[in-house]
Amino acid sequence: RASADAPCASTPGALADGTHIPLLANLGDATDASSALALGAEGVGLLRTEFLYLDHQAAPSVAEQTARYADAFRPFTGRRVIVRVLDAGADKQLAFLGHEHEQNPALGRRGLRALREHEGVLGDQLRALVAARDLTGVELGVMAPMVADADETEYFVALARSLGVSSVGITAEVPSSAVLADQLAPLVDFISIGTNDLTQYTLAADRMLGSVAAFQDPWHPAVLRLARLVGQAGATAGIPVGVCGEAAGDPLLAVVLVGLGATELSMSPALLADVRAELAGHTLAQARELAALAVAARSAADARAEVSRRIARS
Ligand code: PEP
Ligand code: MG
Repeated sequence: RASADAPCASTPGALADGTHIPLLANLGDATDASSALALGAEGVGLLRTEFLYLDHQAAPSVAEQTARYADAFRPFTGRRVIVRVLDAGADKQLAFLGHEHEQNPALGRRGLRALREHEGVLGDQLRALVAARDLTGVELGVMAPMVADADETEYFVALARSLGVSSVGITAEVPSSAVLADQLAPLVDFISIGTNDLTQYTLAADRMLGSVAAFQDPWHPAVLRLARLVGQAGATAGIPVGVCGEAAGDPLLAVVLVGLGATELSMSPALLADVRAELAGHTLAQARELAALAVAARSAADARAEVSRRIARS
């Protein structure tokens, strides 16, 4: 392993055999954008747009949204920027998407489900994203949250393309989307695995609930097997597969995810350096070996221990 000469922040993410693994930033706001670049982000893998509008009673206009997105995009001219359309519901309510009391909000009307009922809001957001792309010259990708199946994927892809988005993706965070990844990958330009929700839903453990926090562990082999399905489907379809959940920022798990087929990783900018250093210490063949150990483990703790032990021996 090459951690002694850790690559510097301006070096693109790469494995020891030279395989490029773009390292991207998760952003919730335009103010993080410049610091993400300084920390070596090659682009943005997840801009969470709902945080921009949590205090809005009425839906923001196209012009207002265009200005906000252009601010966030500007430092990344010429680079890839993936924006997730509003992921409201569950713990993040947006007044202008309406909301009724739900007994299990994580299993309720959130993400694309809510946007489909407010197609005007979704359409305005897509128009503003395209306008901000054209103002700033970023390579825009737009993805939908909480997509469950081909019907929802086709709905979103058709709408986004009709409004001028040329790279359209989905997050794989509902387990059904991972199970069906072979059907969904041919419909989209990229997939991004949202390991936070994928873990919550796979282990049936509310990510907001401290008493079941131990289940919220993306090292769980059940979660990793779903990630593998997405990786395989992406490779067959010839599209990039990213990871934008917290798992991408755990250096060892990042290597495992690459071994499962992830081709790019997006994380909180502060974590980029450690992930970059770890990736540089493994070839793709080694990452695949570690991934095979992890998916064969019996628990999250076993997967972590097996992978750590193998690395310590090498
Ligand atoms: C995820 O679910 O992994 C994800 C990246 O989205 P969020 O944490 O915003 O739900
Ligand atoms: Mg999510």
